[in-house]
Order: sequence, then C-alpha cells, then structure tokens
Amino acid sequence: MQEHERHVLVTGGAGYIGSHAVLALQDAGWQVSVIDNLSTGNRAALPPEVAFHHGDIGNEALLAEIFAARPARAVMHFAGSIVVPESVSDPLGYYHNNTVKSRALIAAAVAAGVPHFVFSSTAAVYGEPAKVPVAEDSAKAPINPYGASKLMTEQMLADTAAAHPLNYAALRYFNVAGADPEGRSGQSTPAATHLIKVACEAVVGKREGVAIFGSDFPTPDGTGVRDYIHVADLAQAHVLALEALIAEPTRSLVMNCGYGRGYSVREVLDAADRVAGTAIARQEQPRRAGDPPALVADNSLIRATLPWTPRYEDLDTIVAHALAWERKLAAG
Ligand code: UDP
Repeated sequence: MQEHERHVLVTGGAGYIGSHAVLALQDAGWQVSVIDNLSTGNRAALPPEVAFHHGDIGNEALLAEIFAARPARAVMHFAGSIVVPESVSDPLGYYHNNTVKSRALIAAAVAAGVPHFVFSSTAAVYGEPAKVPVAEDSAKAPINPYGASKLMTEQMLADTAAAHPLNYAALRYFNVAGADPEGRSGQSTPAATHLIKVACEAVVGKREGVAIFGSDFPTPDGTGVRDYIHVADLAQAHVLALEALIAEPTRSLVMNCGYGRGYSVREVLDAADRVAGTAIARQEQPRRAGDPPALVADNSLIRATLPWTPRYEDLDTIVAHALAWERKLAAG
C-alpha cells in the first residue's frame, strides 16, 4: 500500500473536535497531517508526530503545496467558526470563514485528486424542526448564519461530488461535549460559550455561575433541550465514515451524529452538580438570539450505515470527562 493511502489531512486539527479526530485516526492506524490557523486551536493539543501546517484553509496555494508534498487519501474538515450568537452579530464573518474558505479547501482537494472528504456539519441546518427527533430528510431551514454557512458547504460538496471523482460525508453534529477519556485532549477554547464547558468552568471557579438562557421555551421545564454527544464517540464516527467512503466510492453520506435523546439546560446543570458534588449558581436570563427550543437527533441512519457503537452516552460520564479536562486546564 502506498503511503498516502493511510494519510489524512485534518483541518482545524488543533481545535476541540479536530484534535479528538486526530487521536481517533491515529488509534485506527492512520497517518495524520493538520492545517490550523490557531485562531482558536492550540498546537499543544496535537501529538508531536503529527505534521503541522500553521496556515489558513482559505489559502489554496498553501493547500496545493501540502497535497503535492504528501498526497492525502482524505480531508477531514473541522476548521470553522462555531458560536451561534456570534454568527448572528457577524454573519459575513461566518460566511467567509465557514463557506468561502470551505470552497477554497474543496477546490484544492479536487485539484489534488483527493478522493474522500469528511465534513463537520451541524444540526443547526434544521433550524427549528417541525418534528423532534429530527431526521436527515427534514426541512433544512437554518435560523442563524452559522447553520446557513454550514448548509451552503454541504451543498457545495453535493454538487462537487456529482461533478468530480470525490465522495463525501457530511456529519451533522448535535451538541458536542466531554473530553478524551484518557485525558489527552479536551476543549480549551478561551472564551467558551457552550453549556457543559461553561458549567465546568463554574465548578473550577473560573466563573461565578451559569446563566440559563431562556426558561419560557415550549419544553418540559422551559429550558432549551439538546442532544449532547461525547466528543470521543463523535470522533469515532468520523473514522468509520471515512472507511465507509473508501468502501463505496460512489456513495456520499449525510448523517446526524447524536444519541437520539435530549436533556434540558436544567438537567445538564443537575448532572454537573451531581458529578462535582457542588451547587453551581444559576441565573435565569432571556433567550439567546438564534436558539431553537429543542434539537434531538434521529440517529437511525448512522446506526444503520456505520458499525458505530457509542461508548459514552451517559450524561454524567460526558460531564465527568469535561470536568476532568477543565481541572487539568485549571491546574495549568
Ligand atoms: N445555554 C445556557 N447557558 C449557557 C450556555 C448555553 O443556558 O451559558 C443553553 C443554550 O441556550 C442552549 C443550550 O444551553 O439551549 C446549549 O447551548 P450551547 O451554546 O451549548 O450549544 P448550541 O445548542 O447553541 O450549539
């Protein structure tokens, strides 16, 4: 087998989900290179043997050099901006980072003849789904620029796969949380906004408490309901999706990545209290712009398509791993 047949270029590999994908790829015997502009990522999140390119995925010339120097069997594309409220206040920044730069990356992959592409998409493409759990064929109606920016990239991939010898997997993540169970990586984002991370920061004293954004949603306890998925299970799904793309090069896959059950903000905070043995201060605040009431995955497609066996579905386990990482960060 030629060397490039086991080589993957991971964009955003120094970031939260990307760094876990790097670990999962390595654990599965893949060689990995990373391109990351370190806008939010951290070089230290990567094992030393990973080839690291400090640069931007919008730079097609750089990508051409990278692919020429070391052909890749696949691209796994994580680089992008991920904060829903920020996308509402800076839509053009999001379309630039997530859509325009993805176009450059896809173009470079096509030009270099990379046959497989795994894309980090999002449940935000569904907007406020009419039916929860939401299946892949539900209406795509994003209610914020973040979701729209990712949906546009899905469309580019679908059209590109129809025109060029490339197949792709678009994995629509629900709410990713937790950290590597072995403590090798976790979420280090300095200005975190995601609920479980924020709750863990409150536990270690990095913030006073946690705001509950909206308690008047049409949900059982009035707070937002989400399908929290452990980052290590999600990373595993990427490796399996890549193997499925290789096995059937004419088939592309668009799949939800979630567990198919939802927890409210209050239930998540209860879990954090339980795991930490404390009572996190809670403050009720108005709804945040762009937040849908409930997002839960119908995951029957991924379960039928990939031999994916999640290992960390338990909410307390997800919170415990996130907290272990937060404590590690706090200890420096
Ligand atoms: N949320 C909250 N307080 C926070 C952060 C989030 O109440 O400090 C709520 C948010 O309104 C949503 C859920 O927690 O209902 C998950 O939000 P998060 O930002 O983690 O992910 P999103 O679903 O926006 O991608």
